[in-house]
Amino acid sequence: MKIVKIEVATELCPLRVPFKTALRTAYEIENILVKVHTDNGLMGIGATVPTWVITGDSKESIVAALEGPITNALLNQDARNLNVLLLKVQKSCINNSSAKAAIDIALHDLFAKWLNQPLYAVLGGNKPLTTCMTIGLDDPIVMKQAAMDAVAQGFSALKIKVGNAPDKDIERISTIVDAIPSHIRLRLDANQGWKAKDAIRVIHELERLAFNIDWVEQPVHAKDFEGMKYVTDHVNMKIMADESVFSPQEAFALLKDRCVDLLNIKLLKCGGISEAIKIADLGALYGVECMIGSMMESSISVTAAAHFAASHPNVLYCDFDAPLWLTESPRGIIYQGEDVKLPDTMGLGIII
Ligand SMILES: [Mg+2]
Repeated sequence: MKIVKIEVATELCPLRVPFKTALRTAYEIENILVKVHTDNGLMGIGATVPTWVITGDSKESIVAALEGPITNALLNQDARNLNVLLLKVQKSCINNSSAKAAIDIALHDLFAKWLNQPLYAVLGGNKPLTTCMTIGLDDPIVMKQAAMDAVAQGFSALKIKVGNAPDKDIERISTIVDAIPSHIRLRLDANQGWKAKDAIRVIHELERLAFNIDWVEQPVHAKDFEGMKYVTDHVNMKIMADESVFSPQEAFALLKDRCVDLLNIKLLKCGGISEAIKIADLGALYGVECMIGSMMESSISVTAAAHFAASHPNVLYCDFDAPLWLTESPRGIIYQGEDVKLPDTMGLGIII
């Protein structure tokens, strides 16, 4: 099953409403689609997006990596040697995690299609998944309405974007808590927006108010591992790394120094399913649970993340609402309220 051609195409997908975080406002996504063709007629599909402020990857750099070193590493190779090819992809260039994720997804899709199995079955399981819904950063009154709408749609866990001003953030959370039933769980994401001491002050106040908060994600700057540890050591609430953890190497550095309580894996940060498995395994070795999230990205790459999540015992939380923000209907992944289901057809279960 020789790889004979790798096609790269881009498409713009508008969002229903702008998506705001402490780092950026997104109005659309530039989905980059990759198709891996083989000499027996099977084709693997993958996708990725540029996210300048998180990965540093642009549309141009992703396309260049896919069409250059990654294609060179894979052409004429036997796609049945999945693990060998995945290593070739990782070694083909440094960084470029968004491009590597797209091709890793396509190779997994292809391999599962060759076995005529859904990808989750190839990866080792199909445990039930639920997703939280994200509430973008905005005025407290706007966020309150978005939270009430999400609860009405059946979501019992909300991911609240904060991090642009500590005192305003406390007001945002209090306003939301006042408007929703008490059993709804909150997960806060500061997207690096606080300083360590501000983070501790805000979290202590939230602890005093006894809100139903599962964890706080990425309180301080991505590179500030000491700051992450300082916050983790000085609060009771759990702290999760997101922008701090791209590769398994960074996961290991955070874990061995006990900088965080939880890890947020994203395929586009780590470079695909093969690396995501390593991070989730490392977390398990240290007793640290993982969430899988996504950038604002298409249903194709989120479906791949869901196959991985369904199969890995240490991936216990999902943040898969990105496709629900897009104007196009989700492909592959199936949403039923907060429950997420996967197609039982072969590969990712996506037909293009
Ligand atoms: Mg995050």
